[in-house]
Amino acid sequence: MSELLALRSHDFAAAGAALGEAVMRLRGAALHEELGRIARALLASPQGSFMADASAELRAGASSDPHTLQQDIRFDGHLFGSFEVAGRHDYDAEDRRQLASLAALAGPLLQVHSLAQRATHAYAQVEAQLAHQSQILDQIHESVLTLDQMGYITSWNGGAERLFGYTALEAVGRNILFLYADEDASDSQPDLFAEQGGRMMEVRRRKKSGEIFWASLSLSPLRDLEDRPAGLIAYLTDITERKLAEERLHHLAYYNELTSLPNRTLFTRLVDQALMVAQRNELSGCVLFIDLNRFKLVNDTLGRRIGDELLRQVAMRFRAALREEDVVAHLSGDEFAVGLFDVRQHFEATTVAQKLQAALDAPFLIEGHDLRVGASVGISVYPQDGFDADTLLGKADIAMARAKEGHANPDHSVAFYSFDMNKGMHERMRIESGLRHALGHGELMLVYQPKFEIGTDRIVGAEALVRWVHPERGVVPPSEFIPLAETTGLIVQVGEWVLEQACAQAAVWQRAGMRPFRLAVNVSAREFTESLPNRVADTLARYALDPDWLELEITESTLMHDIDRVIGIMDRINALGVALSLDDFGTGYSSLSYLKRFPIHTLKIDRSFTTGIPNDASDCAIASTIISIGRQLGHRVIAEGVETPDQLAFLRDSGCDEVQGYLYAQPLPAARFEQGLRENWLLVG
Ligand code: C2E
Ligand code: MG
Ligand code: MG
Repeated sequence: MSELLALRSHDFAAAGAALGEAVMRLRGAALHEELGRIARALLASPQGSFMADASAELRAGASSDPHTLQQDIRFDGHLFGSFEVAGRHDYDAEDRRQLASLAALAGPLLQVHSLAQRATHAYAQVEAQLAHQSQILDQIHESVLTLDQMGYITSWNGGAERLFGYTALEAVGRNILFLYADEDASDSQPDLFAEQGGRMMEVRRRKKSGEIFWASLSLSPLRDLEDRPAGLIAYLTDITERKLAEERLHHLAYYNELTSLPNRTLFTRLVDQALMVAQRNELSGCVLFIDLNRFKLVNDTLGRRIGDELLRQVAMRFRAALREEDVVAHLSGDEFAVGLFDVRQHFEATTVAQKLQAALDAPFLIEGHDLRVGASVGISVYPQDGFDADTLLGKADIAMARAKEGHANPDHSVAFYSFDMNKGMHERMRIESGLRHALGHGELMLVYQPKFEIGTDRIVGAEALVRWVHPERGVVPPSEFIPLAETTGLIVQVGEWVLEQACAQAAVWQRAGMRPFRLAVNVSAREFTESLPNRVADTLARYALDPDWLELEITESTLMHDIDRVIGIMDRINALGVALSLDDFGTGYSSLSYLKRFPIHTLKIDRSFTTGIPNDASDCAIASTIISIGRQLGHRVIAEGVETPDQLAFLRDSGCDEVQGYLYAQPLPAARFEQGLRENWLLVG
């Protein structure tokens, strides 16, 4: 400012510099004041000013005064004001020119000045607005955060801080996944970004404290200035309380309060759902209606508290007796229901009913009382008895009432709704108890069917097949009792007997000095457990039988579950020196990639394929494929059920190693088999 004061008359350069500096540094009145001063100094006038709001022409009166000079400041069509100096008597043309030059210089400077000022103003306004908005964002209760397209957090409001417990400093820059509750981690970013429609979702998230909570989440797309997607805005509200209330309501509506089992409403829904699946897959299903016997007596004499506890314990025993996928419900009072949908044959439901009854055998010890209850069970079957849960439940209820009435011991009473099924069930129960009896009374026997080597016609083995010699019915074939024994679990005892008997017989032949051949014993899937290898080892040891004498035939279905466990058992059997063969090969679904991992010696072509040879092209193709697979994997291949010379010829030409079938021999009692064996050896030398 001091330079300005020192300005000499007509020192135009100094005036220009001062002008530039003033425009840069000053605004408003101070600038106007300074501009006046510069004009005064340039024209060495006692008076002089800058007027921002008027042009010289408007004050034309003043301009006629010879002691006054006026000059408008214009630039680019805009009037920025005017200079006016006065107080000297000798203003001349040079002075006028000087003032005009000053105005010409001031014009563009003032233009820049006004533009800059406007921009600054606009910027300040935007800044204020932003501050305002972020204040609003911070104040609102909801938590609002923004993400970039990779899911990294770009902003985090106060609501988010309060909800999650992380400050903006801790959250911004991290990936949104760090807020996910573990089990949710699978619904990761791609899904998040697929959800750009602003839809509401209910999600589980984790707070800084580790607490998991429910939130409603709504997402909307965030776009940049060019309207390209730039990320997402997420709004979250804590809805844990509402969720819990909903869950409580849901529980009240769908579960029995006492036992926490599904109630009738939920049972009906679950069963109807399962029936839809069953229908699609053409499966059958069963509904069991279970009514407790003697519960009312307990309730009436010992009181409700003990009655309630008894029901709770009954519910737990039922749940424990069933498989995970079976639905069990507490309908009311002492009535329960079970839905079974993974049943291959409806009579499996009888086994489940008996299991439930057996679960009640042990007494319940409640507050010093030794309580016993039993149950009657009625069964209805989909689709025979009905197509929906209500109908099936109603019919199972009727069947239950019939069961209870018609039975000497209601605690063991089970009935099907359908007359035929009921008859069938009684028939099966008769067979089952008959088979138990047979096991204890020597009614089972083994027959032996020889296996021949193609080419040499030498007997290289035999299969032991069980027969039940019933005192009244005569010989019962295994097809009539093995499947039933498998569903009831009785197969384990049958299997133990067969192994024992076969080893005893083989030991007799071994001691008689016969050339060893493998005696094959059929082992069903239920027997193929961790305890089997030890049982085999024990039996061999007990009869001092060389393991070369024994072979186990297992079916493909045995291999379909838990491959590693099965292979472990197979390895242990192999380690004993006992051979394994795969029975019914081709009828199951064992994968070829697993097949090479199974330590087996022989593949057995199922009789159903042999039957089609040589006329059925696909049976022929299957048989020859099995033979070549067997060769590739280094296994022997045997065909069972060979009845005709044509079949034998085809098998021989295809490279099959052995045959078994009526063409050579039927299954024979031990003595007849032994005789055949001696003749065979004589025959083939
Ligand atoms: P499998 O193990 O495939 O036994 C072969 C069946 O085919 C036997 O029937 C045998 O008598 C029959 N068979 C053999 N050659 C011919 C033939 O040329 N023509 C015809 N039509 N049939 C022939 P079986 O003895 O009735 O046994 C049937 C099934 O019962 C067996 O099939 C096996 O799965 C099971 N089984 C038999 N005995 C036992 C046993 O001791 N334990 C176990 N777990 N299952 C057994
Ligand atoms: Mg077999
Ligand atoms: Mg077979």
